[in-house]
Amino acid sequence: MEHQGVLAVISGFSGAGKGTVMKALLEGYDQYALSISATTREPRPGEENGREYFFVSEPEFEEMIEKGALIEYARYVNHYYGTPRAYVESKLAEGKDVLLEIEIQGALKVKEQFPEALLVFLVPPSAAELKERLSGRGTETEEVIEKRLKRAAEEAEGMASYEYILVNDKVEDCTARLHALIQSQHYRTSACRELIRRMEEELKELTKKA
Ligand code: 5GP
Repeated sequence: MEHQGVLAVISGFSGAGKGTVMKALLEGYDQYALSISATTREPRPGEENGREYFFVSEPEFEEMIEKGALIEYARYVNHYYGTPRAYVESKLAEGKDVLLEIEIQGALKVKEQFPEALLVFLVPPSAAELKERLSGRGTETEEVIEKRLKRAAEEAEGMASYEYILVNDKVEDCTARLHALIQSQHYRTSACRELIRRMEEELKELTKKA
């Protein structure tokens, strides 16, 4: 069957475990490609340029905006974050399922440009668990944790704009559910236009002969 790549946009509060679930998808299955965003924030300890993000300066980021090199971008807690266009478009064309791990403003902009995109919101089992995970990371100051929790409260209002909500209780379970959800998109009528066209043609041919 002819398959186009699925564009899956995964959002969720900072600390919901999106990164871990993305990693599990990439390691568990061959068909995924993870888009690497550009950002103006500082790398956290252990992060590498070109692996977690492309870490760029504000002027560099603004140049990318001007050149139309980003599908979308947003400001989040005082920094720019954006999705480079070239990688996403080439991987979708190859038939890969492309994962975007981005926040809500960006997700909604992607949906405008790619109406077939799948919008998924990942939540922790509870708000208390979210705070626990953010503090447990040990990489953020109290002030940043507070900012991220406030932002989470704001983002909770946007959850209803998403098509699916997944609770990240256990990473393996959540990953399996997300994988099934993304794969189901391959069978949407809109993703099977080529198959429909071929069926119609073949049936026409057959009935002509009969
Ligand atoms: P963090 O600083 O924790 O890595 O990311 C902060 C937020 O920015 C997260 O919600 C993450 O999903 C979001 N983000 C990462 N890359 C992008 C991007 O390219 N575009 C947008 N709009 N948000 C992004």
